[in-house]
Amino acid sequence: MKRDDLTGFALGGNKGRKLEYMLADALSQQAEVVVTCGATQSNFIRQLAAACAIFGLTCAAAVMELPFEYEALPPVLSRFGGNAYLDQLLGVDVRVHPNGTWEHLYELTEALAREYEAKGKRVYRIPIGGSSPLGAYAFLHAALELQAQTEPFDWIVTASSSGSTQTGLTYGFHETHTKVLGFVSDPEPEIVHDFVDLAAGLSKLLGEDPKLSASDFLIDTSFVGDGYGVPSPEGNEAIRWLARKEGLFLDPIYSGKAFSGLIAKVREGAIQGRVLFWHTGGVPSLFTLPESLAAKV
Ligand SMILES: *Cc1c(COP(=O)(O)O)cnc(C)c1O
Repeated sequence: MKRDDLTGFALGGNKGRKLEYMLADALSQQAEVVVTCGATQSNFIRQLAAACAIFGLTCAAAVMELPFEYEALPPVLSRFGGNAYLDQLLGVDVRVHPNGTWEHLYELTEALAREYEAKGKRVYRIPIGGSSPLGAYAFLHAALELQAQTEPFDWIVTASSSGSTQTGLTYGFHETHTKVLGFVSDPEPEIVHDFVDLAAGLSKLLGEDPKLSASDFLIDTSFVGDGYGVPSPEGNEAIRWLARKEGLFLDPIYSGKAFSGLIAKVREGAIQGRVLFWHTGGVPSLFTLPESLAAKV
């Protein structure tokens, strides 16, 4: 297991790697305010807020509890506690909006950036989850870090959502025998096109020709359960299993679902050999499960 749940910034997580590069970029542009968006229980906003605190920047975020369409309101994470409470301690300017679509959330985020600009502030915009080409670059370096640490793996398995984690890793292991499989937390099959765009942005950043196309990404959408942000019974089972086997914690939205996918694929025999699970963190949201779900965990 690669323990990115133990990176720096506010209790760790995969976003710490991206922030090392993004904060440097924001500071080099003399930004005063960093604006982003996410779900109320976003791990990225929590880690970004800590990084901003360290470097004296204001962190502002537009959030929705459920930024996706659903038919009946499922039991979801509480909007209080967990990351939301840490955001409050870190002094984030959080703007909570009624539930809607991701597209609407992006519009509200741009409005927030303009609000600061109208006050004469220099704003640095960061896309959801820190998934800019620079975020993917951070994970290309993570791939190189792993290659220097140990012998090659047959499989690297990780949770995947806004895409820069999987894109950077896939880039780094392209044309090696290591396969990078992402269990997505967002059940949109077209997600792969976002990953291809990110990879193209990364190639540009590196001054290389584009090298990844849709068929280079191994994505599995079948362990999402009822949708983004909705804990799944299999994911909760995986959380309990790993806690009792190894004393380690996964989260209900990303790493727990990905680990449930890993367990299923190993049982089927579809994943064999030397396997690395890339633990992306997210543990603060464990403390926001509603009673009805926590009882099942
Ligand atoms: C953000 C996040 C992911 C997904 O990473 P992306 O780079 O956005 O695809 C996975 N797990 C956890 C815990 C996260 O917070």
